[in-house]
Amino acid sequence: MSDKSILYIDDETSLLQIMSHALEKRGYEVATASSGESGLQIFNEIKPNVVVTDIMMEGISGIEVLKQVKKERPDTVVIALTGYGTMDTSIEALRLGAYDYLLKPCDRDELAIKISKGLKQQGMERQIKDLNEQLIAANSELIKREEKLKSKTEELEKLAILDGLTNTYNRRYLDQYLDQEVKRAIRNKHELACVLLDIDCFKQYNDNYGHQAGDDGLKQIAKVLCESLHRASDIIARYGGEEFAVILPDTSLEGALKIAEAIKEAVVSLNIEHAHSSVAECVTVSLGVSAFKPANGFQTRTLVEAADKALYKAKNNGRNQVSY
Ligand code: GH3
Ligand code: MG
Ligand code: MG
Repeated sequence: MSDKSILYIDDETSLLQIMSHALEKRGYEVATASSGESGLQIFNEIKPNVVVTDIMMEGISGIEVLKQVKKERPDTVVIALTGYGTMDTSIEALRLGAYDYLLKPCDRDELAIKISKGLKQQGMERQIKDLNEQLIAANSELIKREEKLKSKTEELEKLAILDGLTNTYNRRYLDQYLDQEVKRAIRNKHELACVLLDIDCFKQYNDNYGHQAGDDGLKQIAKVLCESLHRASDIIARYGGEEFAVILPDTSLEGALKIAEAIKEAVVSLNIEHAHSSVAECVTVSLGVSAFKPANGFQTRTLVEAADKALYKAKNNGRNQVSY
């Protein structure tokens, strides 16, 4: 139906003819019904924008028509036609959602003006509803994009602090974390431990088994390292080519030595063949451990330097061992 579609319901058929004709002359497309029953049936078929309905009718009354119409299509403009002395019914019609009411017999110009105003209001309300829906859709699209961006940013942030090969933290993050944990240890008067690990005879390994096998070995050892740690605050970073640093906040030398020994054993348990090692038949690691209870003025690098010295000792003493 067109925008100017009207359903006119009145059981006074002579009036119905006159009024519908008058409205048609004003450019409206008018369907008529002479009872509430047929009115509702036609309404469901043509879904007009406007319903003009007599209130006092035999059978289904105009009030019932109004209720059904509002239930089916709430934005339909309904104009109720009432008789003199039925003010209560007119108010009831307004309360139930009628756009307006007119007293019968009504003036055709007045009716046409009310219809035109009702249609204008309906048009505006529909536009607002459309805009609102568009806004909601645009907003949810925006939220979706924002979420995508956020997860992309998080991914990038993660990449910026991780080592690409082993997925452990990189050197940059290690330095940052060390600074933070030294400060915390000073504040809390806690100990802070570091384990530096270096793969034994790894040049020989690469030279004999190939660089790819070397990379795989590095990954396996990184995995073992991750599995050896239990606290959320313990971190592993790739310190150099085949060296890893483990930072253990709030951990004593004794505790760090235990962890280092466990790592050493776990690497041996991997049993990665290394026929060219001067130490064993499989890949082994040497570990240096340091622990401090830092006070104000403590230099962060002292912790790693001490672990490095201990590592050197472990290498000199024959590798595949822990020193401190
Ligand atoms: P040591 O027992 O004294 O530590 O001997 P080493 O051979 O392990 O030590 P060296 O420093 O002479 O050689 C380290 C070797 O580690 C050099 C290189 O072949 C290997 N390496 C370092 N980074 C990587 C890497 O990212 N991938 C692979 N596959 N090998 C690496
Ligand atoms: Mg090395
Ligand atoms: Mg090495």
